Amino acid sequence: MHINGDFVRAADGRTFETFDPSTGERITEVAHAGAEDVESAVRAARLALDGPWGALPAVERGRLLGRLADLVEANAAELAELESRDGGKPISATTSMDVPGAVAQFRYFSGWPTKLEGRTIPVAMPDTLCYTRPEPVGVVAQILPWNFPLLMTSWKLGAALAAGCAVVLKPAEQTPLTALRLAELVVDAGFPPGAVNVLTGAGETGALLVDHPGVDKIAFTGSTAVGREIGAKAGAQLKRVTLELGGKSPNIILADADLDAAIAGSYQGIYGNTGQACYAASRLFVHRSRFDEVVSGLVERASNAVVGPALDPATEHGPLISAQQYERVRSYIVDGVASGATLHGDVPPADPSGFFVRPTLFTDVKPDMRIAREEIFGPVLVATPFDDLSEAVSHANDTEYGLAAGVWTRDVGHAHTLASRLQAGVVYLNSWASGDPAAPFGGIKSSGVGREMGQEGVESYLESKTVWTSLASQCLHTS
Ligand code: ADP
Repeated sequence: MHINGDFVRAADGRTFETFDPSTGERITEVAHAGAEDVESAVRAARLALDGPWGALPAVERGRLLGRLADLVEANAAELAELESRDGGKPISATTSMDVPGAVAQFRYFSGWPTKLEGRTIPVAMPDTLCYTRPEPVGVVAQILPWNFPLLMTSWKLGAALAAGCAVVLKPAEQTPLTALRLAELVVDAGFPPGAVNVLTGAGETGALLVDHPGVDKIAFTGSTAVGREIGAKAGAQLKRVTLELGGKSPNIILADADLDAAIAGSYQGIYGNTGQACYAASRLFVHRSRFDEVVSGLVERASNAVVGPALDPATEHGPLISAQQYERVRSYIVDGVASGATLHGDVPPADPSGFFVRPTLFTDVKPDMRIAREEIFGPVLVATPFDDLSEAVSHANDTEYGLAAGVWTRDVGHAHTLASRLQAGVVYLNSWASGDPAAPFGGIKSSGVGREMGQEGVESYLESKTVWTSLASQCLHTS
């Protein structure tokens, strides 16, 4: 792990192994942080905040973030390979999206420190100066999932560092490697020791961080179950918290949509990253007049999908992250078949030779089936026809989640009316999973609390301090 600018072992010597999901082979052994290490990392972060990091002028914070962007870019090939090996993400994706995306995040956030301004407030009291100061929240714990390790690290870290916070980051136990390499680049960029600390370990390390009294804010991305637990603890301890959790996102194709674009976008929306995405377009609603056409278009694309090892440049869909995730996804597919839905695709074998699952699609789905209600986090799509728009909206909103929603139509009025009626933090019109560091992202309902990226993302790492000054009896009366 990386504490106060140095690689260190766990105080108790504990380690865990990280595996290549494409081959099942062990890549290496990584330190597992315990209570003593959490203590050291939080202390290092606090000292940095009270010392050289906290004292750094805004322009310098921006310069360091810019240098970090340059260093990630200069080491792009290495980071892409590391990410593909550790997380099973196709090298074509890590090369074209994850690593350039991380560079763009750091570059975007490098512009923010010098734009964080307070306001002068026109208060009623005479001879009074009242103004606000944006100040960093303090020491933040950032807890990450395994599906977009480097990219999510960049948007969390970029926002926190732009705001001037000191960070203790815990990558997922399945994918610790790119965060550790990034920690080295943070040092090379010139950040003072302790500004960024990386603690590797499992959920128990995350829980120790959440509970630590020296942590002022928790930013978590992961499962809704763990998010609820962290939210409850943050509430009890009155810590700031942002949560980016699960989804079961509706994707609606209207009769007038450009079907080629809708099929291509919907395919990527659910099967991109092998379905392991919180924003996955996992519930498809298609106007009845176009339903068969859309389903056969998706099934045909799925039957030609190249599913394989992450480092093969031809691979479109890599493996699932682990045996556990494979079994979870398989059990949903088995359950869907057992509950009477029609499966287009194959039931993955019970005794597989790897964690590979080909894209699957269910039709004849009832709204109360588990495959239609629960987040599967795999390449499993449920498709349902609709007859009118209000029926589509009520099906779309009939979920505990509210992360993303999509609409495919050529009718501008329908598009924007649906955008306002769909209960989601992000709505994609004639697209899916568009993203930009400047555009906020996050969910409502059980999909989370708060926004990341963009202005909202930076503001979530700031507190506003109000300063009152009495000017009376000083200037004019003194001479
Ligand atoms: P997933 O089911 O996708 O692995 P989790 O929500 O279990 O998602 O994990 C996401 C991140 O949260 C990981 O870094 C994991 O180690 C961490 N984590 C798991 N359980 C806890 C917990 N109780 N408290 C804090 N962090 C946790």
